[in-house]
Amino acid sequence: MFDSLSDRLNGVFDRLRGRGALSESDVRAAMREVRIALLEADVALPVVREFVDKATEQAVGQQVLRSVTPGQQVVKIVNDALVEMLGSDAVDLNVDVTPPAIIMMVGLQGSGKTTTTAKIAKRLTEKGRKKVLMASLDVNRPAAQEQLATLGTQASVATLPIVAGQQPVDIAKRALQAAKLQGYDVLMLDTAGRLHVDQALMDEMKAVAGVADPEEILLVVDALTGQDAVNVASSFSEQVPLTGVVLTRMDGDARGGAALSMRHVTGKPIKFVGTGEKLDGLELFQPQRVAGRILGMGDVVSLVEKAAETIKVEEAEALAARMAKGQFDMNDLRNQLKQMQRMGGLSGLASMLPGIKQVKQAVANGAADDKVLVRMDAIIGSMTPKERTKPELLNAKRKIRVAKGSGTTVQEVNKLLKMHQDMSTMMKKVKKMGGLKQLGALFG
Ligand code: GDP
Repeated sequence: MFDSLSDRLNGVFDRLRGRGALSESDVRAAMREVRIALLEADVALPVVREFVDKATEQAVGQQVLRSVTPGQQVVKIVNDALVEMLGSDAVDLNVDVTPPAIIMMVGLQGSGKTTTTAKIAKRLTEKGRKKVLMASLDVNRPAAQEQLATLGTQASVATLPIVAGQQPVDIAKRALQAAKLQGYDVLMLDTAGRLHVDQALMDEMKAVAGVADPEEILLVVDALTGQDAVNVASSFSEQVPLTGVVLTRMDGDARGGAALSMRHVTGKPIKFVGTGEKLDGLELFQPQRVAGRILGMGDVVSLVEKAAETIKVEEAEALAARMAKGQFDMNDLRNQLKQMQRMGGLSGLASMLPGIKQVKQAVANGAADDKVLVRMDAIIGSMTPKERTKPELLNAKRKIRVAKGSGTTVQEVNKLLKMHQDMSTMMKKVKKMGGLKQLGALFG
């Protein structure tokens, strides 16, 4: 899903490469592609227009830097502009007030509202050391209140006892009283959802907000619904004073464009993203990461961070230098495989690089589980030093020898060679994009 976007930008920047300066026509040509790319990433049209205008203005007016290619400069400008529009810094919850701080959760049914309520409560309990009470005001959906109680047990967070037949505003009042009397720092109110935005829902929310006077009203939206999510956000923000948005299912295929539109439409920060069904699948919103995702260039930031935890800088620089010379042989691949093992296997690595088809395919083909990494190491170990530096020497006869020596099959030897070739191609591609330093950091 990310690939066409990534390829498109690669195309643009390839054409720009080699020019001495960013002319206005260069920028306009690039921005035409950026515009299509953003639309494909599910960014709303008015937002795209504004974004492209802004980025064009910045790019054309800017002095051309000597040390980078025009393509790199455009990537940087587009990336920075995206980050800026997404709201630069992560914004945490406003809960350090006279207790109880009240957080009201709103959103459509199925958006992940109840799950997110429990996720946030868990986070506040564990990380914020807050005493949290959760209450479900959802009297429409059968068993909604029980669902929250179950999640509360899982998260070790208290829930308000259920009183059958009580209406939302009364539940809110009771919750408020309980939170005050029992010394809770935070009260989370999980309101009812609907399948569609309707007036009864909005009225109910307003009534609850009137009684509870919350510090935070968080809108929960499903990132996978793209443009629909933006329409929902727009309807809600017209009716209730939202303080922030939570985008769920960012662990799925969502292209991230909704995030950009959301911020623009509601004017409110995205505070968290949901990254899984489990209760620890919640992260503070990181504009840089989402910008990377919209650009289809992979979640480079988190990858770099993860790599930095496990990998020595000198190794990275040495590899980067070799790659700059176009050298990437079997010895390098062997080192990479070792490091991938340290980084949680190839599948973990590939999942962070949505743009890189080859690695993903290798994973999909089953070429890359952890046992396979060990076998690949054995295959390289059975090559002669000459073969390792020049894998093209490996003809049919040599392959049979290597397979025998490593206790594998010729098929597996071929798979490894194909992977080496794919990775070389990928590295050349990234190098062209100007991402050499980053790539060195990732793979070194
Ligand atoms: P509600 O109707 O808005 O309260 O939605 P729920 O909290 O019941 O969630 C609906 C479904 O979405 C459940 O199966 C959740 O496990 C799932 N869900 C919620 N958030 C996420 C997320 O961030 N990622 C994924 N993959 N699933 C999620």
